[in-house]
Amino acid sequence: MDGRIEAGFRIQIRRLVAWTRHADVEGEVERLVERARLLTQAEGLGLPRALTRVYTELREQAARPAGAAAADERPPAAGWRPPWHRFDAAHPPRFLCDPSTAGLGRWLRAAGYEAAADASIPGHRLPEEALARGLALLTTEAEVLERRIVANGSLAVAWVPSALTMREQLALVMGDLALGLREPRCMVCGGALVAREKEAVRARIPPRTALWKDEYYVCSGCDRLFWQGTHWERIAPALAAAARGA
Ligand SMILES: [Zn+2]
Repeated sequence: MDGRIEAGFRIQIRRLVAWTRHADVEGEVERLVERARLLTQAEGLGLPRALTRVYTELREQAARPAGAAAADERPPAAGWRPPWHRFDAAHPPRFLCDPSTAGLGRWLRAAGYEAAADASIPGHRLPEEALARGLALLTTEAEVLERRIVANGSLAVAWVPSALTMREQLALVMGDLALGLREPRCMVCGGALVAREKEAVRARIPPRTALWKDEYYVCSGCDRLFWQGTHWERIAPALAAAARGA
């Protein structure tokens, strides 16, 4: 598994290094992968976490003005560009989750992003489906990064190594796409949550909850009733940490 994760990071690192117009792309990729290997020994990290750290540092450097300025000298031709360049607060990404990222998709909904999952679509068809629907593909499959529609910049892919925890994956995706926290969406179906008067939904509120909660929301997609209870008190700090890249 580590071999496939390293292959995925090599693709991600190579694209970012090339985007910053580094003079020796292949040499820099080898140097960074070697640095990750040294980290595994120096800090006892597994290779996926060491590569994640090296990649994240590279991404943060590339996103700084100096790195971005070098890349801006390129002609504005179509082609691969970093994921954080593709979206902004007015045009947030909407995700299509492959089956391996269904749980991560729930967290992204809690962070306020649409994240669809459709088990009826065969795995090999997901990239084309995402492209056709204007969605970013969320996946743990490194092979997807090699697809032509990804290499040429047509399809945005948020790739996360399967060896990371869900929270680590969430921090990686939110950093890659520079996502801030938005209004939470329904974690079950992704629908928008609409505030409702307590009295209007009182019949559906568990009696003990009604004693201490006054704000309620109904999902516009699945009609579930929500309130920010003890469950949310665990989720909210994790979302805030992921948005900070922690
Ligand atoms: Zn819902």
